[in-house]
Amino acid sequence: MLDLTFTPPEPKVIQGATSDWELVIGLEVHAQVASKAKLFSGASTEFGAEPNSNVAFVDSAMPGMLPVINEFCVAQAVRTGLGLKAAINLFSAFDRKNYFYPDLPQGYQISQLYHPIVGEGEVIVDMAPGIARRVRIERIHLEQDAGKSIHDMDPNMSFVDLNRTGVALMEIVSRPDIRGPEEAAAYVGKLRQIMRYLGTCDGNMQNGNLRADVNVSVCKPGAYEKYQETGDFGHLGTRCEIKNMNSLRFIQAAIDYEARRQIAILEDGGKIVQETRLYDPDKGETRSMRSKEEAHDYRYFPDPDLLPLEIEQAWVDDIAADMPELPDEKKARFVKDMGLSEYDAGVLTAEVESANFFEAVASGRDGKMAANWVINELFGRLNKEGLTIQTSPISAAQLGGVIDLIAKGDISGKIAKDLFEILWTEGGDPAEIVEARGMKQVTDLGAIEAAVDEIIAANPAQVEKAKANPKLAGWFVGQVLKATGGKANPAAVNELVAKKLNG
Ligand code: ADP
Ligand code: MG
Repeated sequence: MLDLTFTPPEPKVIQGATSDWELVIGLEVHAQVASKAKLFSGASTEFGAEPNSNVAFVDSAMPGMLPVINEFCVAQAVRTGLGLKAAINLFSAFDRKNYFYPDLPQGYQISQLYHPIVGEGEVIVDMAPGIARRVRIERIHLEQDAGKSIHDMDPNMSFVDLNRTGVALMEIVSRPDIRGPEEAAAYVGKLRQIMRYLGTCDGNMQNGNLRADVNVSVCKPGAYEKYQETGDFGHLGTRCEIKNMNSLRFIQAAIDYEARRQIAILEDGGKIVQETRLYDPDKGETRSMRSKEEAHDYRYFPDPDLLPLEIEQAWVDDIAADMPELPDEKKARFVKDMGLSEYDAGVLTAEVESANFFEAVASGRDGKMAANWVINELFGRLNKEGLTIQTSPISAAQLGGVIDLIAKGDISGKIAKDLFEILWTEGGDPAEIVEARGMKQVTDLGAIEAAVDEIIAANPAQVEKAKANPKLAGWFVGQVLKATGGKANPAAVNELVAKKLNG
């Protein structure tokens, strides 16, 4: 198997007035399943459609309508579970979570409380090369999303848009293993990356397709270790839950604010009240939304309209056989087989499209050289121009062609950058361009020697200085390269200059 040895990062410590405090964080991430149809209806999930245009009768809870499970959504939850190395439950069941919301016409949300489809798994959250946190996943369950209430369109009225009502969500619940704001953001980022590799969630946080409820508590140093030894939550502090965060930056800011708020209360001799809070990005603070509700408040019961969900191991095996290589594996392979640094491998595997592009460039070529060209030249240029790998004007085949010409000794690294520029602005075939524009490196020793002789003859004073101080030979090399338009093979020039000056 993979070698995933790493050192866990230090937990974040906040210095209070009387003591040091550590953070304990657990996340409930809601990931919208990348499905064209909803979890229990055939209505479209298209984003940005005309309000209330993607609503089936069952989504609007018309009398007599019955939910029908969408097999594709179930498969995506299984696929996600396998991607998180989690146990897949062949038996799971849907429950009604009863509550009133104007944008939830049924009066209940169909979810999976008692028997989730996915059990325990894990995510490795990279913090720096060689430093990573193992975050345990408690469960993933399938549930319906609610619609949208709109309060800011009219001074007197509120509106309801049911397009999102009934869309499939995977709720991914972590153990409270996250120990700081940066880790929490990196954890959500890693989940997003894995699901994008799997194709099970598009990870678009701006559209609300990936959002997190963030549970935060604080404790004195040593308490978390006691919780880990015993499994007893009593060692941890009381938590507050910050609802519905859809920005990695705000997640970090909210955790930091919330931890400091709790520390101030505790140091003042107060107690933390378990509650649900909202983050206000304008003010940079969290505020109370409602006191914490318990599962029994929702009067959960098995949904009588839906049979338990029983899936077969053979079906799970089929999904498992069709899994793509995931980021951790890909990164480990780039390090091991291609000799890349962990950092470079991390950059190249951040998005699956970049990894595929890199592999096409590196195929049959030197991996390190390919990584260098993709990261430093191509990514650098794409970033500068606000482009992505999908909109790159240079293809993997073209960049591979540049590398081949360098490897063959046809062009120097310097000329290769000029060639890159031509490909970027004009396109074309690298080898043909080099041929047609006379960019080939001169390895004809006779021609180089003539150029060296000419420069030496023209600069007798410099020759005397260079004889006394061999470091000055570099000046001649530079002159020869300039005289030959950068096309002379630098190694050959170096050698000839040294020979002529000393001889
Ligand atoms: P509930 O159903 O009441 O929300 P859960 O057991 O589902 O409770 O926990 C919700 C989330 O809170 C999980 O991600 C869990 O890891 C996290 N959590 C539990 N206890 C703590 C704690 N003391 N500090 C921080 N997070 C916690
Ligand atoms: Mg919960």
